[in-house]
Amino acid sequence: MLNENITIEDAHKKIKEEVHKLVESHRIEHDVFYQALEEVLFSIAPLYLADERYAKHNIIRRLANPDRIIKFKVEWMNDKNEIRVNTGYRIQFNNSLGPYKGGLRFHPSVNEGVLKFLGFEQILKNALTGLPIGGAKGGSDFDPKGKSDFEVMKFCTAFMRELHKYIGPRMDVPAGDIGVGSREISYLFGEYKKITSTFDGILTGKPLFSGGSLARTEATGYGVVYFTEAMLETENKESLEGKICNVSGAGNVALHTIEKLLQIGAIPVTCTDSKGTIYDARGVDLEFLKDLKFNRRGSLEEYVVKHPEAIYIPVSEYPEGGHAVWHIECYAAFPCSTQNELTKIDADTLLANGCVSVTEGANMPSTPEAMATFLENKICFGPAKAANAGGVAVSSFEMSQNASMIKWSFEEVDARLKTTMQNICKDIATTAKEYGVEGNYVDGANITGFKKVADVMIAEGI
Ligand code: NDP
Repeated sequence: MLNENITIEDAHKKIKEEVHKLVESHRIEHDVFYQALEEVLFSIAPLYLADERYAKHNIIRRLANPDRIIKFKVEWMNDKNEIRVNTGYRIQFNNSLGPYKGGLRFHPSVNEGVLKFLGFEQILKNALTGLPIGGAKGGSDFDPKGKSDFEVMKFCTAFMRELHKYIGPRMDVPAGDIGVGSREISYLFGEYKKITSTFDGILTGKPLFSGGSLARTEATGYGVVYFTEAMLETENKESLEGKICNVSGAGNVALHTIEKLLQIGAIPVTCTDSKGTIYDARGVDLEFLKDLKFNRRGSLEEYVVKHPEAIYIPVSEYPEGGHAVWHIECYAAFPCSTQNELTKIDADTLLANGCVSVTEGANMPSTPEAMATFLENKICFGPAKAANAGGVAVSSFEMSQNASMIKWSFEEVDARLKTTMQNICKDIATTAKEYGVEGNYVDGANITGFKKVADVMIAEGI
């Protein structure tokens, strides 16, 4: 499949030059976007240079630039009757394969660069599912933490007053992400209905009573585990049953990863939040964690009050340049909190402690150096755009159910999710083999996703 006249080194050099030309014209906040872009372009370099259609149709430039970036002001009033102003965004990146689709993130760290990184990743992730969905991302620098329900509602309604102009069931269908759970989706959906007088499936991740899909809440975390099981089987490794697993995060993705791990007989012993890490050698108490994080929105510090035999490690005691959770011995690791949360030091420690599998539940949680370490050491490494695609896959199932006004059972959605994750694993393993990088799921995922989108862009012209 490789063009014999071009070495991989040549291909990487050319691509690096291309990326740096793009980087020069942008500001620091876009670093994380270029990190994601560079990874994809390195993976697809041999394909890009072997097939001249991609250069002829200027696919890199066209794919690296979003179709449009919508940026707007969100004015709302807090409980003290003070007027607050935040920035809202929707980045509609690419709709070659279907309506724009991707989550909304509410977090103070949100800026255009972060959303471009997430939106770009979303294009290829959505392509991997084989479902008719394009790529997008959006959100705001609004921080729901510490806000009353009423304040969150007022922000969400103000956000939707602007966003509704740009979304629609066949145009753009946002979902949740960090800081946007079913509470926020409900407020957003309620406001959309008031403004437009329509009951369209314009958001996914809705509660059941608003037309949501069963198993959407669980989908990303369950999908992460289904993908890992398929990857371990493909690579002839031992299954997760009875194995120690380290999970980071304590949100939607992390807690449902833990739930599925418990269901299949694995032993998840950790979780983290923005303040610290819990290590419970007997396996974490999921019911307590769900109540703490989903109902009470509390801090993990509380876990050791109920379980004094567990250990709480505050962020201030993390190893220099690393994260405590990855310094605890495990068979499999599941970073499920945020980008760049697993560094080179963490990767080296995981390997030294015998970890054989890392699956990314969060988007781009491994730094480029950490990822390179895993790939060089040929452990099983499931990249985010493949491993966490279960959420968006079930979002697409939610769109199908909304369009047909039919509700599928939990078992039906879960079975479709499992099949989707197994197919993604099979597709990217096959592609990796075809392109001479057997076992490299990063290249396999990037090449598979890129080809699907680029071929449609070429077919449809400019
Ligand atoms: P949640 O908001 O439910 O949970 C996020 C968790 O990560 C929380 O425990 C939070 O801590 C922690 N966290 C967030 N930012 C930081 C940070 N900067 N440092 C340390 N900890 C942090 O989000 P989700 O579980 O939905 O999303 C987690 C990841 O998975 C994200 O990368 C998201 O993009 C990705 N993802 C989510 C999907 C979904 O369906 N929800 C689908 C695909 C990907 P605290 O509790 O203290 O706030």
